[in-house]
Amino acid sequence: MKAKASKKAGGKTTAEGMAMAKTKAGGKLCVATLGSHSALQILKGAKDEGFETVCVTTPNRTKLYSAYKFIDEVMEIPSFKEFDSVEDELARRNAVVVPHGSFVEYLGMEANKKMRTKYFGNKHILDWETDREKQRKWLSMAGLRLPKQIHDAADIQGPTIVKLYGAKGGKGYFFVKNKREFDENIKKLPAGEKISIQEYIIGVPLYIHYFYSPLDKKLEIMSMDIRYESNVDSLGRIPSKHQWGFDVEPSYVVVGNKPVVLRESMLAEAFSMAERTIKASQKVCPPRGLFGPFCLETVITPKMEFYVIEISARIVAGTNLFINGSPYADLLYNEPMSTGRRVAREIRNAEKQGRLDEILD
Ligand code: AMP
Repeated sequence: MKAKASKKAGGKTTAEGMAMAKTKAGGKLCVATLGSHSALQILKGAKDEGFETVCVTTPNRTKLYSAYKFIDEVMEIPSFKEFDSVEDELARRNAVVVPHGSFVEYLGMEANKKMRTKYFGNKHILDWETDREKQRKWLSMAGLRLPKQIHDAADIQGPTIVKLYGAKGGKGYFFVKNKREFDENIKKLPAGEKISIQEYIIGVPLYIHYFYSPLDKKLEIMSMDIRYESNVDSLGRIPSKHQWGFDVEPSYVVVGNKPVVLRESMLAEAFSMAERTIKASQKVCPPRGLFGPFCLETVITPKMEFYVIEISARIVAGTNLFINGSPYADLLYNEPMSTGRRVAREIRNAEKQGRLDEILD
């Protein structure tokens, strides 16, 4: 087994280092990511594709990530926010960073954009993903069915979900049926909190994981999951007559993911929705638009209609179920193909074809 180095963060960013980060080309590429979210899947996939791998993480997680032999080096930083302190070292290693859900969450949007290390994906699409109004414009342009957006609480007439603007993982969301319930709940939020009020779609939530290859101009369905959310997914275990008289509000905090396959007669629509999303992304965010892994978060009604409640323009944690492939990935590849490995293969293909500039930012 290869010896593993665990390094403390390097010194402060220097002008020399910055120049090196920008200009260094050639040499063996390695794949790096933050030790969180889907790092194990991404780095296992990268190793399977023959890359050296680096995990940048915080001291409390060093032992965990050092336990995996597909991780060649664990670089330690005091907190994720200090990612820039390892950028010179990553440039020296000719690293490509594969972003996941923790990047924007821990580093913040601006730090993500300013990252100097080679980055798999299009950073410009982040603006279209994180701004709820822009995202709606993009998804409407793709002709997707979206829950109605409510601009004035006085118009709430029926099941409605109130989402905190910047929240992730359903934290702090609440359910209301009328203006009175809205007023009661909104009091509990800090003044000035930005919210989005949306028609609540009653149906089955389904998260579809895709990969779009800009090299081959091909879309792939990689896998699907259903999230397990506390407490909304357990309320059904208590009969309604027992729920009377105790004050329980549904909450939507994601705590896990379950694998699922979609009724095959609905697959063509699932494919088409993603194709249209990619096409629209090239219009709103030209020229490259969205590429690599992404997820359409949908709710399917009894009429078998998909409503798209959100898009994640990156690898989502639900893909962690499929480190050894999924029923859908098996149909496309005769080998275990996770989304993380698919990203690494795209990097490898781009490198072989001399087209790295098309997939990196
Ligand atoms: P999100 O932050 O948009 O991924 O939403 C977190 C969770 O809230 C989802 O997984 C759903 O369970 C629930 N949710 C969000 N929007 C809607 C909606 N319009 N209709 C029904 N459920 C929703």
